[in-house]
Amino acid sequence: MNEHDSERLSGLLESDGMTNVDSVGDADVVVINTCCIRENADDKFYGTLSQLKNWKTEKEDRQILVAGCLAQKDRELIREKAPYVDVVIGTHNVHRAAELLVETRYGRPVTEILEEAVLDDHTMFPSALPMRREVSYNAWVTIQIGCDNTCAYCIVPAVRGKEISRPGDEILAEVEALVRSGVTQISLIGQNVNSYGRDLSLNARAAGDVTVKPKPQFAELLRRVGAVSGISRVRFVSPHPKDMREDTLLAMAETPTVVEHLHYPLQSGSDAVLALMHRGYTAERYLSRLAQAREMIDDLAVTTDVIVGFPGETEEDFLRTVEVCAEACFDSAFSFIFSPRPGTQAAKMVDKFIDPAVAVERYERLKIVLDHSAVIKHRERIGRLEEVVVEGMSKKNPDLTTGRTRQNKILHFSSPQPLRVGTYAKVEVTDAARFHLSGRLVEVGDAPKHKLRLAVSSAN
Ligand code: SF4
Repeated sequence: MNEHDSERLSGLLESDGMTNVDSVGDADVVVINTCCIRENADDKFYGTLSQLKNWKTEKEDRQILVAGCLAQKDRELIREKAPYVDVVIGTHNVHRAAELLVETRYGRPVTEILEEAVLDDHTMFPSALPMRREVSYNAWVTIQIGCDNTCAYCIVPAVRGKEISRPGDEILAEVEALVRSGVTQISLIGQNVNSYGRDLSLNARAAGDVTVKPKPQFAELLRRVGAVSGISRVRFVSPHPKDMREDTLLAMAETPTVVEHLHYPLQSGSDAVLALMHRGYTAERYLSRLAQAREMIDDLAVTTDVIVGFPGETEEDFLRTVEVCAEACFDSAFSFIFSPRPGTQAAKMVDKFIDPAVAVERYERLKIVLDHSAVIKHRERIGRLEEVVVEGMSKKNPDLTTGRTRQNKILHFSSPQPLRVGTYAKVEVTDAARFHLSGRLVEVGDAPKHKLRLAVSSAN
């Protein structure tokens, strides 16, 4: 979501006449789009900001704009710590970036934070603003902003506001415009995509349309987006296990363009910890829905997020997480040691905090299990023919090309010819490691459809 906001900030400033430069020394304006999900992002941000103090005073008229979740959370604190910042905006007014830079160029600095998105204003969805896409063949499309859940460790509801779904026709119009500009992969994004459209159906009923059933509409949206001519792949992040419905799994199974990858955040395998986290499911329910997903969707890759050392987590709770992870046998996992985010419920559970050394030790033990599963899953793919979309040359070995499979796996492969980013190809998998696959090119498929130079564009 933050990366997508950054694309929109770049696009807004470019459409206002600015150009991207390669180094901060050449810039007149520095924009920092912040994230506050994890503590080290906070620390990095304030460190970067203090380094910019000299840059700002070296030349007249230089400006600094801070945006994003951390700006929404810290507000005036940012200017208290760094009074040389010109503009602070939050998560609900990204569209004001260019205007406020102009306003503050010769006037006073501004901190403008909105408490919530302004309903009926299409600019509240970042996809509705001009954008400068960083990847030419892929486009993020926001389908929903905010979150109505109350996960105890999460700052998102506080900084992104309540859940608001974007009307399906608007999403489709954007997807069709993206396809016309050469995009072949769409990634639908929202904090809890499985509940997408529940608010729209309730609003429609409240407006008198009793034919609309009060339920999420994500499955229907997946089918509609997946059917747009010219789309090769549809991805989505993130679904919440408590809201995973059979109709979504069926839509995944029956829509050929929807990829065989499900990011399915477990967080903990202990029912007691899941209850403390307010996740709304048990480990058993998680595993049974996972089994159903694997049964319904052929060749499904499953990835997850796990938090270790949540306040109150006992050794037994932790062992349950290890057991559930081993049983689930994930393709890959993002595991984190719990870090309290000020403003969340978990941050107040100080008397239940786990000894950091114990948390680190548990993290290392869990990592062994998660890595083992990843290797098993990757080895299963040796000898198979995978469709990849080319992402560029391998960063570690320039003799290899890097592609991404439908299951979201990185595949480095040898190719006798250079392939343009966005090309589709068939690659035979010859080897597997924890984080990637290796292979050799078998066949070049569809060429990329996008132009070489990325234009700043808007769907509206
Ligand atoms: S579902 Fe939970 S973890 Fe995800 S954004 Fe909402 S509150 Fe945060």
